[in-house]
Amino acid sequence: MQADGTSLQDIAAEAHRRRTIAVISHPDAGKSTLTEALALHAQVIGEAGAVHGKGNRSGVVSDWLEMERKRGISITSAALQFAWGDLTINLLDTPGHADFSEDTYRVLTAVDCAVMLIDSAKGLEPQTFKLFEVCKRRNVPVIAFINKWDRPGREALELIDEITERLDRDPQLVTWPVGIGGSEFGLLDVASGEVHAYRKAPGGAQLAEDETLDPPAAAQHFGGDDARAREEAGLLPVLDSSAPKAAVMPILFGAALSNIGVRQLFETIDRWAPAPGDRPTRSGDDRPVIGAFSGFVFKMQAGMDPKHRDHVAYVRVCSGVFERGMILTHQPTKRAFATKYALSIFGRDREVTDRAYPGDVVGLVNAANLAVGDTLYDPEGPAVEFPPMPAFEPEHFASARVADPSASKKFRRGMDKLVQEGVVQRLVSDLRGDGNPILAAVGPLQFEVAADRMEHEFGARLILDTLPYSLARKIDEAGASEISGMHGVEIARRHDGTRLALLRDIYLARSIGRTHPDVTLTPLLADA
Ligand code: GDP
Repeated sequence: MQADGTSLQDIAAEAHRRRTIAVISHPDAGKSTLTEALALHAQVIGEAGAVHGKGNRSGVVSDWLEMERKRGISITSAALQFAWGDLTINLLDTPGHADFSEDTYRVLTAVDCAVMLIDSAKGLEPQTFKLFEVCKRRNVPVIAFINKWDRPGREALELIDEITERLDRDPQLVTWPVGIGGSEFGLLDVASGEVHAYRKAPGGAQLAEDETLDPPAAAQHFGGDDARAREEAGLLPVLDSSAPKAAVMPILFGAALSNIGVRQLFETIDRWAPAPGDRPTRSGDDRPVIGAFSGFVFKMQAGMDPKHRDHVAYVRVCSGVFERGMILTHQPTKRAFATKYALSIFGRDREVTDRAYPGDVVGLVNAANLAVGDTLYDPEGPAVEFPPMPAFEPEHFASARVADPSASKKFRRGMDKLVQEGVVQRLVSDLRGDGNPILAAVGPLQFEVAADRMEHEFGARLILDTLPYSLARKIDEAGASEISGMHGVEIARRHDGTRLALLRDIYLARSIGRTHPDVTLTPLLADA
């Protein structure tokens, strides 16, 4: 029995019915539309933080950053929780813009499964491929949903060929399209042989009509299209839930905009996506999901409420139950962290959530001393440390100085905060020293966010100079002294002490490999 009276059986049952997922896609594949369709199908329990709205689209528009509002893009991540039958699904939002893929990578450390959304006319787009690679490295199971099937796109088999060739997972079918987009088409339920026929509801979007046809009725209704669909689907295996999840990929077709195929997606999440399980820790042991509370910070968000310059730490619950009011241990400092005032937030307006279970996301406010990757645990149970948040490979570099030297204290304080939140990475160059750090980012918009916040939140306007490097490689001390001073190279140190060589481009990296065989340049992605 836990202190609050929750039994271990309760924790097991709550964990068992949870699924914690994220949608990964290239911009415009339909992530927002799918999120809305999922919410339409299910009962929304709450939102952690602000789910983004786009342009003039309705939704919960987060206006915490003026820039985000002006550009109509979503910078911050949040979580949406909803019930579907007995399941409780936590859908973690990921920023749509590729420049914020570092945030998305972090979100992927906190989910148990990803839904990969593919535009049927475009196939596997670059951002989707990149995000899939992150899932692969972390062994995150991925469900593919081929979207926009209500309009003409590419051939289904051609899309599957592309997916199979480029992604290292075997496709297994849940549904297969009957006929091509237009006013009417069907989805073959590959396991049962039934076809769900859809007609667009008059006026367009939302719930389409859905009629279930047994095989003879489907053959009569769809004629040659039905026969062809069965023949094509017969070329691929049906989803086998007992196959290793990191080796296969369930494939579904649908149209998020017309709510087609969304029920089947829920069913696949239910029966295939894993529930929260025991979790590897830094020491190599697993933390059992049933037991005392533990979790880690996967996202920091600041200034959500312009009236209160607050910091929210989003924590993924890994084990046990979170009870508001608990005193937790902050693993890196071993200090107590009181959650009594640091309310967990769900809902459009901040509401208090009293309890959260494994797989859930808790937003802790007043969390200025927490950093991305930090572990929190209940001191009544065993201590634990989850693996650190991987540092992702930056591709953009800029040197940063404070515009007004009298604000240099503010500059240092602000930079410390932004690094802690993971807004940008900070490197100290051997040439420039720590008063003139190099900011490193996966996407250049991260610099804009940093500059905006430094000016408005910390009162230290930045002067940023873009640097002509496009990749960073780990290097040892001997290698660093050998190539330091070369044209197109700068040696720096990351905040965790790692030595890095910043390089003009991949060609220079290759040529150093040839001309300096003693120097080893290691890609950072080996960390992730
Ligand atoms: P996001 O950038 O991935 O969030 O994409 P959105 O959800 O904003 O969708 C991009 C565009 O594709 C919008 O114009 C949507 O209406 C459209 N869209 C999304 N899903 C579908 C679909 O199933 N069918 C069709 N025809 N259009 C869709």
